[in-house]
Amino acid sequence: IFVPFGGFMALFIIGIVYWMSRERLSPKAELDLAIRNREFIVHYQPIVELETGICFGAEALVRWLRPDGTLVRPDLFIPIAEETGLIMPITNQVVEIVIAELKSLLVNERTLHIAINLCAEDITTGRILDFLDGKLQSTGIHREQIWLEITERGLVDIDAARVTLRRARQAGHAVAIDDFGTGYSSLQYLQGLPIDALKIDKSFVDTIGKDSATSSVILHIITMSQELGLLSTAEGVETEDQAAFLRARGVNFAQGWLFSRPLPAKEFIGFHKNNKET
Ligand code: C2E
Ligand code: CA
Ligand code: CA
Ligand code: CA
Repeated sequence: IFVPFGGFMALFIIGIVYWMSRERLSPKAELDLAIRNREFIVHYQPIVELETGICFGAEALVRWLRPDGTLVRPDLFIPIAEETGLIMPITNQVVEIVIAELKSLLVNERTLHIAINLCAEDITTGRILDFLDGKLQSTGIHREQIWLEITERGLVDIDAARVTLRRARQAGHAVAIDDFGTGYSSLQYLQGLPIDALKIDKSFVDTIGKDSATSSVILHIITMSQELGLLSTAEGVETEDQAAFLRARGVNFAQGWLFSRPLPAKEFIGFHKNNKET
């Protein structure tokens, strides 16, 4: 009777020790492990051309799929990755996943684009460009098909950013300022950085048809982007009224639940098939 009981106790103790050792991992150590075990997946949110409804491409949005099956939203781990110096390997893995999952689609559909989110450290060091360059080589994907989204969050060294973005555009990538209008210094970045497009933050899209004071802010953003010769993408478009408002004012692209939630690669490929130029 003691032998099975002893075996059970041993297993129980091993279990407790394992559980305690997991619990003691710091967020940084956990993320570090997730990077080494490649626990990240990418969903693709379609970006459509407002005028035609045609699929222009998608934004690559990372998620952390933990071994226990839970899916962690990026706002819960990207800030930690940024603070602990672990963001660059995550950006790199996103690039690798995008290429692995969408290479044949991108090679066959030259008018399709994928936007990748960069962090301040990616932009300041510029190493992401070398990484992208190496990974794109011999895939047949054109540089023009990869857009880069940058936020002003944490971006301090504007001179370094300017150097990286110039290189990116010379290589053929388009650069978009993300979450435009939400930071403290959007206008300064607009003036100081070489960019191609603006992403109008969801908080402004939300005001359409609601609050006349703030919805006049979105009108100014749209006008300004047109006067500067930039393309514009509205994010977080949820209603037909919002889409109609944006379309009437000449906003180029939109993404949001009205068109589609972020999708796994296979489903995005299906979305594109149903919404492409014929
Ligand atoms: P973001 O770049 O502003 O991405 C748009 C977010 O809005 C996504 O959340 C998307 O799922 C959500 N969204 C899109 N359409 C709608 C809509 O119609 N209604 C509502 N309520 N939400 C909508 P998600 O995927 O949770 O990503 C959150 C943020 O995490 C992103 O905001 C981006 O800043 C960051 N992020 C995501 N993937 C990456 C990545 O690969 N690298 C980096 N550095 N950051 C990432
Ligand atoms: Ca983005
Ligand atoms: Ca955004
Ligand atoms: Ca946003």
